[in-house]
Amino acid sequence: MTPRRRILPIFVPHAGCPNQCVFCDQRRISGSLFPASGAQVRRALEELGPGPEVELAFYGGSFTAVDPALQEELLQAAEPYRRRGRVTAIRISTRPDAVDGPALARLGRWGVETVELGAQSMDDGVLARCGRGHTAGDTVRAAALVREAGFSLILQMMTGLPGSGKEQDLETARRLADLQPEGMRIYPTVVLRGTELEAMWRRGEYREHTVEDAVRVCARILPLLEERGIPVIRLGLNPTEELSAGGAVAGAYHPALGELVRSRILLDRARRLLAEAGATGEAVLGVCPARVSAMTGWKRCNLRCLEEEFSLARVRVTACPGLKKEDIRLL
Ligand code: SF4
Repeated sequence: MTPRRRILPIFVPHAGCPNQCVFCDQRRISGSLFPASGAQVRRALEELGPGPEVELAFYGGSFTAVDPALQEELLQAAEPYRRRGRVTAIRISTRPDAVDGPALARLGRWGVETVELGAQSMDDGVLARCGRGHTAGDTVRAAALVREAGFSLILQMMTGLPGSGKEQDLETARRLADLQPEGMRIYPTVVLRGTELEAMWRRGEYREHTVEDAVRVCARILPLLEERGIPVIRLGLNPTEELSAGGAVAGAYHPALGELVRSRILLDRARRLLAEAGATGEAVLGVCPARVSAMTGWKRCNLRCLEEEFSLARVRVTACPGLKKEDIRLL
């Protein structure tokens, strides 16, 4: 088996950010208080030891808006490792209004391959309420520049932001899909301790986006993106001790959110299948082996739900090796 490429995240929390988005606390999410330096990049690479190829990822800030001298320092630190083939790819994340020709040319000179844009929403009212400081038009323009310059484009969106609802979230997903990214990350909104969003939530100005809200809307968004050939490479914040220990005060924080969403998508598909077939008595659902647990759900919750909804004596799941991940068959 070929060893997988390892991603080495280097955090530059809030570096380059011209303002403070209401939901964001990169120091809490990343666990890093200060932006990394070139020396830290070198140390992180040396400490990795032998192993598979490494992809360096600068996350947590607005990379292309960081002082160009620091951008050069960070990327230059990776250069000897890139020349030796230890680092085989570099990616950065940034905000849409911080992308222009000179910024992309700098990234290209240092071998950056992938640019991730934090679009978050394609609704200008939502962006304004979140204090993003850019518009949906900026995202359209930046995405075009990134693609024209030959980088891989990854778009990040959030669900459940202030002023947004299911329809706006779906529309954001559709409009971002139109920009033809190579992949997307979806971050349902989490209320982080100490953020302006927490204050808005405590004042009753923001209704939290619950785990259930997030599962429902993401179970619509994922198929919409995947039907258009756009993989979702991350769903939900990475679980950390800090977030689990109270850093996430409300909202859609769940260590296995992606699994919950996959499980709901299968439940919805099974519902349609059973309704079309007019199933009675006992039903057996065939899924690919990797999806048996998602179809079954936590403590059989999906199967119990189907048994109740369709008055079935029993619903069972069985592994069918020939099936694709998204397929279900009534056996
Ligand atoms: S969401 Fe992005 S642009 Fe906004 S404060 Fe956080 S890192 Fe900066």
